[in-house]
Amino acid sequence: MSHATVERLDTVIIDLPLRRPHKFKSMSATHQSYLLARVRTTDGVEGVGEAVVPGGPWWGGESVETMKVVIDTYIAPVVTGADPARPELLMARADRVVAGNAFAKAAVEMALFDVWGKTVGLPVHQLLGGLYRDSIPVTWALGADSVESVIDEAEQKLSSGLHSSFKLKMGAQDPAADVERIIAVAKVLGDKASVRVDLNAAWDEITAARWLPSLEAAGVDLIEQPVPGWNVGAMSRLADQLRIPVMADESVQTLHDAMRVCTEGAADIFSLKVHKHGGLLAARKVGGIAAAAGLPCHGGTSIESSVGVAAAAHVYGAMAEVTFGSELFGPMLLAEDIVTNELTYTADGLRVPSGPGLGVTLDEAKVAEFTRD
Ligand code: MN
Repeated sequence: MSHATVERLDTVIIDLPLRRPHKFKSMSATHQSYLLARVRTTDGVEGVGEAVVPGGPWWGGESVETMKVVIDTYIAPVVTGADPARPELLMARADRVVAGNAFAKAAVEMALFDVWGKTVGLPVHQLLGGLYRDSIPVTWALGADSVESVIDEAEQKLSSGLHSSFKLKMGAQDPAADVERIIAVAKVLGDKASVRVDLNAAWDEITAARWLPSLEAAGVDLIEQPVPGWNVGAMSRLADQLRIPVMADESVQTLHDAMRVCTEGAADIFSLKVHKHGGLLAARKVGGIAAAAGLPCHGGTSIESSVGVAAAAHVYGAMAEVTFGSELFGPMLLAEDIVTNELTYTADGLRVPSGPGLGVTLDEAKVAEFTRD
């Protein structure tokens, strides 16, 4: 193995335009912001990691701005001078200096994996135990416009052959109107595709218990995180009430969250996200807990660019328990990306990249163009 050490770790914030606004319960995003962590070793090998939150700090408290401060001030000194081929050790050291801040840590760990893989000439999935699957199916997230335009978008995506399942965001409207909109979409798409909804923790238990059965009756196939992440008891009761699966996202961030959700029967499926868990190794550990409870995992998204999606593909590609597909569509939603070699999407899904490290090459001109002043 290489004896090169990390010479420097730099961060930059970039803002990339989306093809269309992406609606969440609290905001509608027209741009997606990214924090890039760029590592360079004493051998001159460079690696990159990315952190991204879905639209802003509303999801989990972190933002690209907080990540930059945390990495520059506290995590960069931990990894500088160290062997990048020891991510488990370096992230344990980072945990002793910085509590929480999982998204920021994930960016740094991703850059370590990239530079380690590039140094030894191996793709990251080979550093994680090797490929379990070559491709990962990709659910498309539909916009939150009128029912007609949502169905239009779904029909286009179906005819592209790249997607056979769709996710709709809920929680921005009052429950009756929101449910009516979803039922109208499910009526049209229900026979041709899997329709799933994500409440992003918008409802309380009473509202969820009142309205989720209507969605189930209308043919919705899966309900994601209807109630706040902390309300594991409500998740458990709703999972009992419904026959369709309940997926935990906000409820499963740390390893300890994962353990609790399993012991309380608070979900049927885990949505994994490299960033919310704090990195590739942590995502893998959360998946192990799901496997121990017999729960399948889904590869969730924070709307990563090709850098973050490549990283997610490497780890999900290596994990037996990621049997419920993914929503790694970030690059398809971006009007501009930051790599020179685009990822490959086929009818089988996203192909796990095969090049060294993350298998993507930064487009320096694009990075410069979209760097925040
Ligand atoms: Mn979600």
